[in-house]
Amino acid sequence: MKHTNLKQIYTTLLNEFGHQDWWPADTPFEVVIGTVLTQQTRWTNVEQAIANLKEHGLLEPETLAQAEIELIEELVHCCGFYRQKASRLNNIAKYFADKGIENVFSVPTDELRDEMLSLNGVGNETADSIVLYAANKPKFVIDAYTSRIMNCLGINGNYIRLQELFEQELPTNVDLYKEYHALIVEFAKTYCGKKRCGECLLLPDAAKV
Ligand code: SF4
Repeated sequence: MKHTNLKQIYTTLLNEFGHQDWWPADTPFEVVIGTVLTQQTRWTNVEQAIANLKEHGLLEPETLAQAEIELIEELVHCCGFYRQKASRLNNIAKYFADKGIENVFSVPTDELRDEMLSLNGVGNETADSIVLYAANKPKFVIDAYTSRIMNCLGINGNYIRLQELFEQELPTNVDLYKEYHALIVEFAKTYCGKKRCGECLLLPDAAKV
């Protein structure tokens, strides 16, 4: 695999965008809810759904686990795939209510990751977002933006391969992982999403289109 300097990229992004302070949430369980709601939608919709759930007192595992599924559907409707997301949230809430969030998060990182992956509707990115941003354990989150940027830099690989690359090249540090992923998302929204490839901060000048 081609080598790239991930520490240098981090410094470039941090200098450009500053600290992102992710994940915006009041509690670890709110982060969990956000990771499910954010699948295939904009963050502004997630904020609206979280505000709706908060208004109804449903940002706790116990209350969300006992809520009527129709009510949850109504409250998360703005995020799209609302039936699927409501059902997933209800199931995840039952899991956390049953086990206790502190118990769930007390296990080693890889065990927690596997446990999250066993929940319905939780794939690699969602599981790692929960592990990193809710449980504060070191797992680097890869998303479509990260894959796209790495591809531009000549580095291809599936989710796990890219994750290994980041985790091998960077110090194992929760705050660094949190900030780095957030910076990648900010960069991708500002540059890749707006097709500003000619001004790309990460490509060598000769490679810019
Ligand atoms: S701005 Fe364009 S060239 Fe740069 S990483 Fe994004 S998609 Fe690739």
